[in-house]
Amino acid sequence: MDSLQQKFEQVFNSIKLDDAGKTLLASDLIYSCLVNEDFTKITLILPESSSLRKTLPGQIESGLKALDEINRVAVEILSEPPAEEQGPPSQTSRPVQQPKRTAYLQNYDAVIAVASGKGGVGKSTVSVNLAIALSKMGYKVSLFDADIYGPSLPIMTGLRGERPLIENNRLIPIEAYGLHTMSIGNLVEEDASMIWRGPMVHQAIEQLLRDTEWPGGDFMILDLPPGTGDAQLTISQLCEVSGAVIVSTPQDVALLDAVKAVHMFTKVDISILGIVENMSMFVCPHCQKETPIFSTHGAEATSKKMNVPFLGGIPIDLAIRQGGDEGKPVMATDVSHVATESFKNIALNVIKSLEAL
Ligand code: ADP
Repeated sequence: MDSLQQKFEQVFNSIKLDDAGKTLLASDLIYSCLVNEDFTKITLILPESSSLRKTLPGQIESGLKALDEINRVAVEILSEPPAEEQGPPSQTSRPVQQPKRTAYLQNYDAVIAVASGKGGVGKSTVSVNLAIALSKMGYKVSLFDADIYGPSLPIMTGLRGERPLIENNRLIPIEAYGLHTMSIGNLVEEDASMIWRGPMVHQAIEQLLRDTEWPGGDFMILDLPPGTGDAQLTISQLCEVSGAVIVSTPQDVALLDAVKAVHMFTKVDISILGIVENMSMFVCPHCQKETPIFSTHGAEATSKKMNVPFLGGIPIDLAIRQGGDEGKPVMATDVSHVATESFKNIALNVIKSLEAL
């Protein structure tokens, strides 16, 4: 029986590049070929002027999808090999590498997934403010809104209604507060229904990862949809996530879901960087009295119980809500606000957790 490598080679050998019958396998156009379960990503090096850019992706996709082992195919086209590489590896003789979760976002030092067990606990608020806190420390940070069902980053970053530029068929991330961002909310009408089923969520996330010209840098912050479903699995299959930050409010119901989220990431081999307790405490702006509206310290206790780091608490505060709604995150606009200290502290703890991995 043919090995997967042989099957790939047969497909590449069946694709003719010119009238003389030169095949894709015999060419040096294939830069890399990664396989992860039923997913494969082929990277080609083709000059921008090449007419093969139009025809090859379709041929490769249909050829590989015909294999029993492969259901999903991504074809990436680069004009030249990535700068950090010393010449193309010799894939033509060995097209199938060991399965790796490095298909996308390889140009970031750390990819951090921000997740929550349930919606409305402040996951996007934490994603945006954490990203800005890291950027203010001098790191190069990108922010990807993988919350396909309810993309809120365009509103929170003041990019509502903005559309990304498209260059050479690639989406150019939109910049806000020093971050490079991309969200499906910047591509579809705001009221477009996003009641999508699993495979469509997978496709949408993958397309945004693949077709965006991510600049690379120190951190990629991924704002995941709430829950423990398809998007989390997709991300774990498509890129090497350094670790997950779980956001929860302090009530028992939210914490139960946070515990589920921790278990889910552990199952797909993604480390937990820690738990953030959002809306920990209400501090009265007049008398500074602290009121634990949603109870308090629950997330800290849960972190201890689960043996994962506690990354810090964030007060419930009008400025955080207003900053989110108005597209002016408190971390960027109000340096003296008490919440900015919380976000800075959480950013430092995230770095500590990454270093401890
Ligand atoms: P999620 O991403 O978990 O659905 P969001 O970040 O969108 O949650 O937050 C839900 C709502 O709660 C938003 O209106 C946001 O501005 C508000 N919010 C989040 N955290 C706080 C906080 N600490 N204080 C006040 N409002 C907050």
